[in-house]
Amino acid sequence: MMNPSTMMPSRGSRRNIDEVMCRAAAHAKKEEFFKQGGFEFQSLAGHILESSCKHSKEIQEPNCLKCKYDKELALDELPEMVFARNCLRIHFQSTGFIEFNTLDALKMVISDRLPDVQVGASSAWQSSRKDRIQEIQNHQKPFDWTFTTHYKGTVNGLKVTPTTERIDMERLKRRDAIAFSSSVILFEDELADHGIAQLSARCRVMREGYFFVLLRFYMRVDGVLLRCCDTRIVGDDNSGKVIREWQLREAKYENLRHVDPEALLDVDRAWMHLPIVEEQIDCVSVD
Ligand SMILES: [Zn+2]
Repeated sequence: MMNPSTMMPSRGSRRNIDEVMCRAAAHAKKEEFFKQGGFEFQSLAGHILESSCKHSKEIQEPNCLKCKYDKELALDELPEMVFARNCLRIHFQSTGFIEFNTLDALKMVISDRLPDVQVGASSAWQSSRKDRIQEIQNHQKPFDWTFTTHYKGTVNGLKVTPTTERIDMERLKRRDAIAFSSSVILFEDELADHGIAQLSARCRVMREGYFFVLLRFYMRVDGVLLRCCDTRIVGDDNSGKVIREWQLREAKYENLRHVDPEALLDVDRAWMHLPIVEEQIDCVSVD
């Protein structure tokens, strides 16, 4: 038996999807490149993943992203919006790269049990979710419907070593001139109108001779829980290495009563109010 207080949202919510689709359309099939200091930045953006294949069901098309996702992911459901073509990649000279892609991020979502999100018995959430829970108990394998991923990038041809070196956060607060910037959204789900789960990646290359990349998973179950899982990467020109800091932060709403509610709704501000639960720091470098 499932714990009745561990809820799962329905898929019916489409409230803000139009807005997101507009944003996505603006990014459709965009490809950007920028080079500086031995690093090359590549940002790819394309259409949302189709909800069904455009070819006959009998054949598996090797070039069909829908087939690829179905085959490689064990998840029973995908987020409402999956930007399968979006990717942010940083090449180190020509030896290797680190990238943020949607498929690898979703591979790290728990596909065989429900998330540890306890919802109060009296909440609107629970009453509105009863049918859905029943449906899942009857037909579906449980999975983490918050789509929480601890993904911190896909590394290819580079060396990863633990380090005690930290990112200079003060430098990132400076308003240095930006030579290049780009951002992509990898997936988003409205959690059936009860919050949001979103994964996005952005980069900023400064004329001063360094760059900053942020992969941010932001998850809000309204009135219950806030979670941010950030990966920050900072590199100096011609160093051939970057520091990568991964942090999981979260807090229950009951412990956030002192915080301005507007700040908690803001993807770019909420993280500052959440305590660090887990952290990993490494150095990614040319071998
Ligand atoms: Zn297909």
